[in-house]
Amino acid sequence: MASFSVRFLGCKVSHVDAHAVRERLLADGHHESDGGAEVAVVNTCCVTNEAVAKSRKEAARAARTHRRVYVTGCGANLAGDAFAGLPDNVVVVARRSEETAEFVAGDVGAIGCVQADARLDRVRAFVKVQDGCSFGCRFCVIPLVRGASRSRPADAVLGEIRRRVDQGHREVVLTGINLGCYRDRDADYRLPRLVREAGATPGLDRLRLSSIEINHVDEELVRVLRETPTATRHLHVPLQSGDDAVLRAMGRRYSTRTYLRRLEPLREDFNLTSDVIVGFPTEDEPAFENTLRVVREAGLTKVHVFPYSPRPGTGTAAEDPIPPPVKKGRSARLRAASHEACLTHWRSKIGREDLVLVDRPGRGYGDDYSPWLVPNSEPVGEVVAVRGAAVSEEGILAA
Ligand code: SF4
Repeated sequence: MASFSVRFLGCKVSHVDAHAVRERLLADGHHESDGGAEVAVVNTCCVTNEAVAKSRKEAARAARTHRRVYVTGCGANLAGDAFAGLPDNVVVVARRSEETAEFVAGDVGAIGCVQADARLDRVRAFVKVQDGCSFGCRFCVIPLVRGASRSRPADAVLGEIRRRVDQGHREVVLTGINLGCYRDRDADYRLPRLVREAGATPGLDRLRLSSIEINHVDEELVRVLRETPTATRHLHVPLQSGDDAVLRAMGRRYSTRTYLRRLEPLREDFNLTSDVIVGFPTEDEPAFENTLRVVREAGLTKVHVFPYSPRPGTGTAAEDPIPPPVKKGRSARLRAASHEACLTHWRSKIGREDLVLVDRPGRGYGDDYSPWLVPNSEPVGEVVAVRGAAVSEEGILAA
């Protein structure tokens, strides 16, 4: 039996993959330890150069304090051997996510007799329903490191959701790399049917989608979200750019007109958040101004801003003409616009009631994923009724 620790960097899918390794090691009888563990698993991210550098640093740090370190996830699968030169006790596991837990468990040495029922280490349970992507956005390394789109069988997903609810999770987040591509052909499920049935899980308070491409935000999905009482009034819909020429150069599959039209029916009562890449090779100042305009017109609140960095093996790997200070300046302007939009949205909650899932002492998120500041005495993991009293820089203050 070995003691182990698991860390992840990056997105919700990385979190789910890290948890799959953790759960497998626990099931094999190994035990988790914060300090002094023999084995470390570092599930890495490669979405930007900075993410790879952080991942490498984390692996190097773990190598100093653990007997064996497994580097897993997107970074491990990245072309160019980003983890070369690390000490000999580091094992880079360049495998598909479905094979990673099995490989690590086999290498650590399974004893295979203990069936631990590992609770996720977060208040929300992230349930992966789909992995990989078959789209070809020219900047994106994900299809290269995660492979083509594939989905889990619906009965496995629904079973996991029931298990997470039984474990005490109040909220489930359906997670995938390209969630709208979800399809279980044998059982005839696409995402809307999965949402409807997942949302009806007895005991579940909230169902959230991690992120969805605009082309998958269709009438059927919107109708199901509205008809499912547990489905939250929040959608995260990547925009990437608000300029049509940049979107075409990125190889995205929509225009800004489509983006705005599809979100229009949701503007009134959904909190809409997004991702934007700033400083893409063909983005000039007018193109960036277009992005600011579309963010405003779409009614987006929180925008995750990613300064462009070329990724190895992608269509734009050799292109990076925008100077770093320009990227920095545009990023700051977009973040400021996003923060203003958040403040305006939060102010609309003053005097209104909401239900907040407390996920840390003194903090939590409302139904539409707006951040709330609640009294420290509110129990973590519970849903509490609140009323908006005021707004701070960090969220809505509960009365
Ligand atoms: S950015 Fe494009 S290629 Fe990358 S995961 Fe998203 S849809 Fe797929």
